[in-house]
Amino acid sequence: MIIDLRSDTVTKPTPEMLEAIMQAEVGDDVYKEDPTVNALEEQIARMFGMDQALFFPSGSMANQAAIKLHTQPGEQLIADKYAHVYNYEGGGVSFNSGVSCKLIDGHRGMITAADVVSSINPPDFYHSPLSSLVCIENTTNKGGGACYDFKDIIAIREICDTHNLGYHLDGARIWNALVARSEKAKQYGEVFDTISVCLSKGLGAPMGSVLIGNSKLMEKALRVRKILGGGMRQIGYMAAAGLYAINNNIERLKKDHIRAKEIGTVLEKLNFVTQVEPIDTNIIIFKIDQDENDFIKRMASEDIHFYGMGQGKLRFVTHLDYTEEMHTYLLEKLQSL
Ligand SMILES: *Cc1c(COP(=O)(O)O)cnc(C)c1O
Repeated sequence: MIIDLRSDTVTKPTPEMLEAIMQAEVGDDVYKEDPTVNALEEQIARMFGMDQALFFPSGSMANQAAIKLHTQPGEQLIADKYAHVYNYEGGGVSFNSGVSCKLIDGHRGMITAADVVSSINPPDFYHSPLSSLVCIENTTNKGGGACYDFKDIIAIREICDTHNLGYHLDGARIWNALVARSEKAKQYGEVFDTISVCLSKGLGAPMGSVLIGNSKLMEKALRVRKILGGGMRQIGYMAAAGLYAINNNIERLKKDHIRAKEIGTVLEKLNFVTQVEPIDTNIIIFKIDQDENDFIKRMASEDIHFYGMGQGKLRFVTHLDYTEEMHTYLLEKLQSL
């Protein structure tokens, strides 16, 4: 038994998901003729109460397209210093959109309306880049799966309205936030200009993200996706996996969250663990008083795999393929250390 807690992206399609893939009706999606892709896009747009949705091969491409829709070269977006769009998309914001990032030193990857206000460059001061977009993440990745209070999300919207800024949600793990906070997708659709959601993280599809927004922006999104090389043909097979995932695998994220909390409780009692960050969803970040790489190697020899994040931080991520049997084994192993 190999326990892989490196990421919630390591899941493999279940027999039921594979069956949904096999049964999919497909067509050429570049001509918008793939019925399964169209069904996925319609269902997700409806779910969030927004006009239109567009299927992307990856979350990075969906975010990059959104940034392109909201900005012009030379402008600046505002995000937390931990933001995926800044740290983990290969510098795409400058490569694809020619924009820079104003980074906020937020809390667990989350920012506030006051942070945003103090990061906006005065629009008439032409020496500094024009602020044009705010990107937030929910849940946060590098911030350890933290979820926003919805009222903080609304407060940032008000600042965006006042200062004429676009507002994009990197919702790669929005499903975890919806389940953890008992929120509705529609709440998010009412607040943001664009939202990217991921089907291959907690939900277990092999690939795919969806960008959602109003029709005026989304008509341009089709062109931007083409330019980025994201036009796909009979991709309904993968959309079928995505549909299966959103129809079957959202509520079960609760299990991942419960197990994450249980792991946290055990970690807190271990004498070599010096800190466990708060656990809101399925990500557990902790620090130890010994060499992390030695610890990672020692655990790997017991078939337990996870990553270090630098700065002495270690991370476990629970997911669909992390079973009750694995959970029991892991907790026992940790307690025996
Ligand atoms: C995983 C992730 C993405 C996109 O990832 P891809 O690997 O490109 O699909 C975007 N934002 C956040 C916060 C993520 O965790």
